[in-house]
Amino acid sequence: MDVIIVGGGPSGIAAGIYAARANMSFVVIEKMYPGGKLAWIEKIENYPGFPDGIAGSDLAERFYRQATALNVNFVFQNVDRIEKVQEGFRVFSSSNFYEAKHIIVASGSVPKKLGIKGEETFLGKGVSYCAICDGAFFKNKRVAVVGEGKHVISEINYLKGLASVTWIKKPQSQSQDLEGVNIVNGVPVEITGERIVKGIIVQTEKGITTIEIDGIFIFAGFKPSFEFLPPEVALDQSGYIKTDSNLKSSVDGIYACGDIRSGSLKQIVSAVRDGAVAINEIRKNL
Ligand SMILES: Cc1cc2nc3c(=O)[nH]c(=O)nc-3n(C[C@H](O)[C@H](O)[C@H](O)COP(=O)(O)OP(=O)(O)OC[C@H]3O[C@@H](n4cnc5c(N)ncnc54)[C@H](O)[C@@H]3O)c2cc1C
Repeated sequence: MDVIIVGGGPSGIAAGIYAARANMSFVVIEKMYPGGKLAWIEKIENYPGFPDGIAGSDLAERFYRQATALNVNFVFQNVDRIEKVQEGFRVFSSSNFYEAKHIIVASGSVPKKLGIKGEETFLGKGVSYCAICDGAFFKNKRVAVVGEGKHVISEINYLKGLASVTWIKKPQSQSQDLEGVNIVNGVPVEITGERIVKGIIVQTEKGITTIEIDGIFIFAGFKPSFEFLPPEVALDQSGYIKTDSNLKSSVDGIYACGDIRSGSLKQIVSAVRDGAVAINEIRKNL
């Protein structure tokens, strides 16, 4: 194979479209669903071609439809490990292995965890990192939102249309007047429940308090998805892949595209641009 594309988000799909049109032999390996983080976006207003905006899930569907119309081969498996072999690379997935001369890493980023007790136990049982994906499960219920920043405010505004929201924010962080939202200044220390989430224990300036909730949305930022990479691939201090201007990593034959790339703008438009650039570079080397 000419190239294995790891990740079927905007960057991996764009790479797939360009690879198909360049008549390359390749596969896109995606561990979840096509479109990556597009599924998390309620409305996209800054991607060219959609003057009225477009829902992230609709754009994902369009990307996928365009790719499959060009016979882009998607394999839905988790990439566990990449090894250097004589003729290129061997990529081990959950149930198979594949070999190619080049690798495009387009695995994006995943939400950071708080690392508190109960977070892992109740994952998918009341703990979520994506309001657009999971908000509907909490219709007319009580949810807590943890995190700070502009992005969190927009998630709260989305959730408060569905559920009763308590925002747990760091005492020193700036507050916002969010109508109908209960604000608690404090730090979450434990998520409690039985089979599903029942409450959150918060350390406030006045002491420990327990808030009864049915769900918790955690927005603590993102971290790169790079666990499967060979250790020789150079990363920046935050774990994003360092590349040159042609998107080549420190390992000959491995390219990085989209949000996983150090210095990326972390937008859809930059992710798709990277996919096209990397395929063009690989094409020149074939
Ligand atoms: C809430 C939110 C709102 C946003 N709003 C906008 C916006 O309005 N406009 C905009 O331009 N951008 C927006 N973004 C950013 C945009 O979503 C990203 O820049 C874009 O999705 C990056 O694409 P990507 O392909 O690099 O990575 P991702 O979208 O993260 O896709 C990576 C893919 O790789 C897969 N993957 C990871 N590890 C593996 C593995 N080991 N094996 C196989 N597959 C793997 C993942 O499952 C995923 O599908 C938003 C992001 C969020 C979270």
